[in-house]
Amino acid sequence: MNRSKLLLILVIAAIVAVFIGLDGHKLLTLENLQSHQAALAQWIDRHLLVAVIGYGLIYVVVTALSLPGATIMTLAGGAFLGNLYGLITVSIASTLGASLAFLVARFLLRDTLRERYKDTIAKIDRGIEKDGAFYLATLRLVPVFPFFLINLAMGLTGMKLRTYALVSWIAMLPGTFVYVNAGTQLGQIQSTGDIVSADLLLSFALLGLFPLIAKFVVGFIRRRRVYAGWQKPEHFDYNLLVIGGGSAGLVSAYIAAAVKAKVALIEKHKMGGDCLNTGCVPSKALIRSAKAADTLRHANRYGLESVPVKGSFRNIMNRVKDVIAKVEPHDSPERYRKLGVDCISGEASFVSPWELEVRHNDGRTERLTARSIIVATGGKPAMPPIPGLEDMQPLTSENLWELQDQPERLLVLGGGPIGCELAHAFARLGSKVTQVERGERLLSKEDVDVASVVMKQFEADGIDVRLKHSATEFRIEEGEKVAYCDHEGERVRISFDQVLVAVGRAANTSGLDLERIGVDTLPNGTVPVEEDMSLRYPNVFACGDVAGPYQFTHAAAHQAWYAAVNGLFGQFKRFRVDYRVMPWVTFTSPEVARVGLSEAEAKEKGIAYEVTRYGLDDLDRAIAESEDYGFIKVLTPPGKDKILGAVVVGTHAGEILAEFTLAMKHGLGLNKILGTIHPYPTWNESAKYAAGEWKRAHAPEGILRLLEKLHGWRRGKKDQSRQEKRKEVTTG
Ligand SMILES: Cc1cc2nc3c(=O)[nH]c(=O)nc-3n(C[C@H](O)[C@H](O)[C@H](O)COP(=O)(O)OP(=O)(O)OC[C@H]3O[C@@H](n4cnc5c(N)ncnc54)[C@H](O)[C@@H]3O)c2cc1C
Repeated sequence: MNRSKLLLILVIAAIVAVFIGLDGHKLLTLENLQSHQAALAQWIDRHLLVAVIGYGLIYVVVTALSLPGATIMTLAGGAFLGNLYGLITVSIASTLGASLAFLVARFLLRDTLRERYKDTIAKIDRGIEKDGAFYLATLRLVPVFPFFLINLAMGLTGMKLRTYALVSWIAMLPGTFVYVNAGTQLGQIQSTGDIVSADLLLSFALLGLFPLIAKFVVGFIRRRRVYAGWQKPEHFDYNLLVIGGGSAGLVSAYIAAAVKAKVALIEKHKMGGDCLNTGCVPSKALIRSAKAADTLRHANRYGLESVPVKGSFRNIMNRVKDVIAKVEPHDSPERYRKLGVDCISGEASFVSPWELEVRHNDGRTERLTARSIIVATGGKPAMPPIPGLEDMQPLTSENLWELQDQPERLLVLGGGPIGCELAHAFARLGSKVTQVERGERLLSKEDVDVASVVMKQFEADGIDVRLKHSATEFRIEEGEKVAYCDHEGERVRISFDQVLVAVGRAANTSGLDLERIGVDTLPNGTVPVEEDMSLRYPNVFACGDVAGPYQFTHAAAHQAWYAAVNGLFGQFKRFRVDYRVMPWVTFTSPEVARVGLSEAEAKEKGIAYEVTRYGLDDLDRAIAESEDYGFIKVLTPPGKDKILGAVVVGTHAGEILAEFTLAMKHGLGLNKILGTIHPYPTWNESAKYAAGEWKRAHAPEGILRLLEKLHGWRRGKKDQSRQEKRKEVTTG
């Protein structure tokens, strides 16, 4: 603790000690005030200025230090200064005292709490910034909330002092008036409880509702204001218009149709979006072929003869196309039409917050209106502005699937999930892969120990991983494609046949005419969404990759639910998107699957945790399949059975993770996983063994020692515990 904080605590302690020492708490009682009323009145008549200043100062100290007696002080204000001057003096002094208490709490505790509960405090601050004044006013108006607690609690938030003082002053006036007025009738008060009758309390409670009603009205006005200048259509063609037929758009339209809303889905290219056509589905199909190649290459692990991998790359890519074709009906216009969705082939752009212009793929143009509109236009691969890169005809996750011939030497730019999945697949299919990553490790969002398992496997599979390499230039030298990288100040030359760029994804907003309705994009290109997934207009929403922050199909679908439900029923209730339990999987071999906090994140957020680890080399099923590598790591708060995060690195990690995700989502701890029967021998047994590790580390040592003694005693042994005996044997 720094010196100024210590000094302040000492000063406060000294004042409190003096207050108690002088029996301040006994002096500030109703009886005392009543019995000295006449004498005090005489003295005050003679020394009015001194009395007012002295009274104000004592009031400030009592309220600032949350000392008992503020109510009596307020009554005294009424008794000696009358209604008007009493009200003025008390309201100023109480606001000053409350502000000082607020500042003291902030000075002493806020930094410490912010360090420890960074996320929670940030969330509270966001709420306070938005609606703090309304909440404070409610707390102040309803006299059942203790005055000093409000001061201290608000000091810990990010509320501005100015707002705090002003709102407190205004909202405390009614209560102050009641007590000051009661003070003018001091002689008739039997106890302070008489001052506020049940009826008056009820009136205050109703008054307390006023800020909340005001909040609603202000929200209503604010919402109306963004529409100023727009002419709302009298009738709408649809309840909901959805732009983009990818994961987010499909789910939005599906939900709307399921609740019998009239909905149209506008897709300019292919239904299914990235996931079906260029993302999850083709990449997983390619990865499966790569895994088959790896199994053949290492068939000797299973007692068979290893064979050099021979195959036609074209056949592999044809299989990928067959897989897409097989999944396609799930996302097809036919299926969605049957569900009740109007599927429109065309490109949409905004005309107003309720109206879109649709340029049909057959050349027609029409305008469509809807009560709500959802933007689900996804993302596209980001292309870094590296000199010469465009001339290399770079591959991306978009055009890769048209490739007919396998690159002999493939350079992969990027060590994130997409770069790693594709680099590994091509390496296992026989390309000589060099992977260049600017950062210190692959999969930078994962912990070091997690990423290093993947790195080890990449090296074993012949990938030339170049970390801390930043591509700066591309050239063709003597007919050969060459990349130059900066590596710790050195210029490194890498030759290749084809380059695959996987350095991130950019949100897709081009052609939407968002600027026409005054919606700007964020610096990272995504559109700014509120917690209910709305944009600046409460009837215009965005979900999926175009909104971020996650870029997964399941995240897009999750957000789509909020966008669709809030879009259709938001007038009655708005749901806030909940990202607390968001799992994801990187489909390298071994897979990396995570939910909740990583160790690095827990450290960064200052969250106390302990780690439980279970090595998959111990799992019978993994051993039987000669895939006994990787681990499970679970983070829990010290001594508590609550899962903060889990990561699995290994074969079937994505499947194993589902158990931890379910547990986290429903607040189940490791004891519950341990107490669940898992069939033997399955990969998922590993979740139970991880829980077992946690249990072992938290065994009640004291009880076990007692039990050991009990068992010894029951065997007829008197004083020597088995443990002690074992100790003797080993040390002896
Ligand atoms: C190689 C790769 C592998 C991936 N693997 C996985 C994985 O294993 N698991 C996972 O969860 N995620 C994975 N992803 C991410 C996943 O594909 C995306 O998160 C998901 O597709 C996002 O869905 P979306 O609906 O937001 O966008 P998209 O799927 O991109 O759909 C947007 C659609 O909007 C259309 N559109 C755009 N503008 C307009 C307009 N003006 N008018 C009409 N239509 C328009 C586009 O044509 C597109 O069809 C992968 C991505 C890639 C690239």
